[in-house]
Amino acid sequence: MDRLSNIVILTGAGISAESGLQTFRAADGLWEGHRVEDVATPEAFVRNPALVHQFYDARRARLGEVEPNAAHIALARLDAEWRGGLLIVTQNVDDLHERAGARRLLHMHGEVRKGWCLRCNERFAWEGAMGEEAACPSCETAGMVRPDIVWFGEMPYDMERIEEALMKADLFVSIGTSGAVYPAAGFVQTAAYRGARTLEINLEPSQGSLSFDGRRYGRAGEEVPKWVDEMLG
Ligand SMILES: [Zn+2]
Repeated sequence: MDRLSNIVILTGAGISAESGLQTFRAADGLWEGHRVEDVATPEAFVRNPALVHQFYDARRARLGEVEPNAAHIALARLDAEWRGGLLIVTQNVDDLHERAGARRLLHMHGEVRKGWCLRCNERFAWEGAMGEEAACPSCETAGMVRPDIVWFGEMPYDMERIEEALMKADLFVSIGTSGAVYPAAGFVQTAAYRGARTLEINLEPSQGSLSFDGRRYGRAGEEVPKWVDEMLG
């Protein structure tokens, strides 16, 4: 493939799972034993903010115990060395891509290490527990900060930029995604419609596997480095 081609890469739970992070599974609707309706919707936050904060405080603390794996590291290398357009769109709310060194990266579902003030609308980095009484570093109001996470029923971030990148893509690659959560599950059709080649790298065929031109099945930590070597070879 031409080294100046445009690549869009979508990553999902499968790539973080190999670092030891359990993420939301569409199959049973559970995330670390919680129903998504109880911890990952705006309604849940209104109903029981303490539980929602407790859940994300635990997810944030867990990030300190895990490391990027070979797949994150390979994608960061591709980002650094690929001379054409490249955009990594992740559905994951962890920071493993950036800790591996990726720079051309969008978090379409937000980031667990960020807060969002509902009073002044600022978003900011957040370390440690947040809890119900967190004060905004910008307007200093307490009790109005929520995790900067796109919850179910909310609009994913940066959709315009993602659509634009998909329209220009020569290659679209989906890594470790279930193919079940929209709008990300529809990216393959958008890219293919505009003439991009499409590739799925996953542990097993996803729900959308038949939409892809190419398929590679195996652990992301093995398949992604192999693919990156071929791309840069
Ligand atoms: Zn504020």
